[in-house]
Amino acid sequence: MHRKGRPKCIRIVKDKPGIDYFKPRGTPLNKLKSVILSIEEIEAMRLVDLEGLEQEKAAKEMKVSRRTLARDLKRGRKKTVEALVEGKAIEIRGGFFATEDGVFICRECSHEWVAPSGEGKPTRCPECDVKDIRRMIQNG
Ligand SMILES: [Zn+2]
Repeated sequence: MHRKGRPKCIRIVKDKPGIDYFKPRGTPLNKLKSVILSIEEIEAMRLVDLEGLEQEKAAKEMKVSRRTLARDLKRGRKKTVEALVEGKAIEIRGGFFATEDGVFICRECSHEWVAPSGEGKPTRCPECDVKDIRRMIQNG
């Protein structure tokens, strides 16, 4: 299904991870190097590696192309393994994503779009400028 107007590069994630930092025990902070995992890289690994989804399916969940999903996955895995093997801390932050409740639809023109996390609830439709918009709840 073609979804008009949705910026393709924003990844939909189910939830932000509950934690934002891992560190190896016994390494003083000033000696510690870290890798930064983005929210969407974690989500890609969660869907594919933890839940066992095919990449195709995981890409659909995140509303991105399979190529984008594969790239997030590859980066996420590489950084995770790097941290484990080289004893680095893992910071979880940033990325380009929205949670499912960041998807909005205009009741006037049916334009559908994602408001990136942290920008607050939009007040108008970016397409027709009408104020009659609502949050869209996505299924599965
Ligand atoms: Zn509209």
